[in-house]
Amino acid sequence: LVVLKGVNKHFGDLHVLQDINLSIGKGEVVVVIGPSGSGKSTLCRTINRLETFETGSITIDGDPLPEEGKELARLRADVGMVFQSFNLFAHKTILDNVTLGPIKARKVPKADAEKRAMELLERVGVAHQAQKFPAQLSGGQQQRVAIARSLAMDPKVMLFDEPTSALDPEMITEVLDVMVALAKEGMTMVVVTHEMGFARKAANRVVFMADGQIVEENTPEAFFTAPTSDRAKDFLSKIL
Ligand code: ATP
Ligand code: MG
Repeated sequence: LVVLKGVNKHFGDLHVLQDINLSIGKGEVVVVIGPSGSGKSTLCRTINRLETFETGSITIDGDPLPEEGKELARLRADVGMVFQSFNLFAHKTILDNVTLGPIKARKVPKADAEKRAMELLERVGVAHQAQKFPAQLSGGQQQRVAIARSLAMDPKVMLFDEPTSALDPEMITEVLDVMVALAKEGMTMVVVTHEMGFARKAANRVVFMADGQIVEENTPEAFFTAPTSDRAKDFLSKIL
């Protein structure tokens, strides 16, 4: 579904993505881990075309990433993204946050968009907060709204960039539970996270990045019990 071939990107002198080859099948859950600064966020942002790249190719469902215009808007809808900070619209209600995209970008009638939004809010467990504003919700609740908002666009793939790292410990589980459920339902997901429990429970594959390169790729079991590279061994010894 998502295929990266020989992708290279620089920030000035920094070669932040070095010859990245990665293929993510439909329904696959890929967890990306690695040290700070290794390029994990840049990788996600590049797939969503929030960043450009210099050489190589990225295709989604066989189509190359569009440059601009209508196709780019379409791509943004197809590729949902959930960030560390929840990025909800502060002056809009929870319900409006979820319906805005479908109404504006997809021309869905308001009543239909609201019906669907309530179903999604139900699914992530915050339907009773629909008329509140983001600041009135806990971080975990806001992040679940952010997930519902992405799902409202019917994405083909969801990218998560450290979705729980800004949350208090007791709220992490409620967000991870939603993500695990999503994975079980067959959503294609790329998840940057240090939550190894999630990786073990939901990932088909772990991709380990260091210094802009994919150093190692394996099933969670194999990766956690027998990492092959020194970089991965060193990283795991620090986080496990
Ligand atoms: P973390 O675990 O801390 O989130 P990361 O693996 O997500 O790290 P990136 O955010 O992708 O790392 O950053 C990779 C490298 O690119 C870092 O050295 C960072 O300083 C640099 N970088 C990121 N964004 C930019 C930018 N817009 N301009 C210049 N350099 C950048
Ligand atoms: Mg990052």
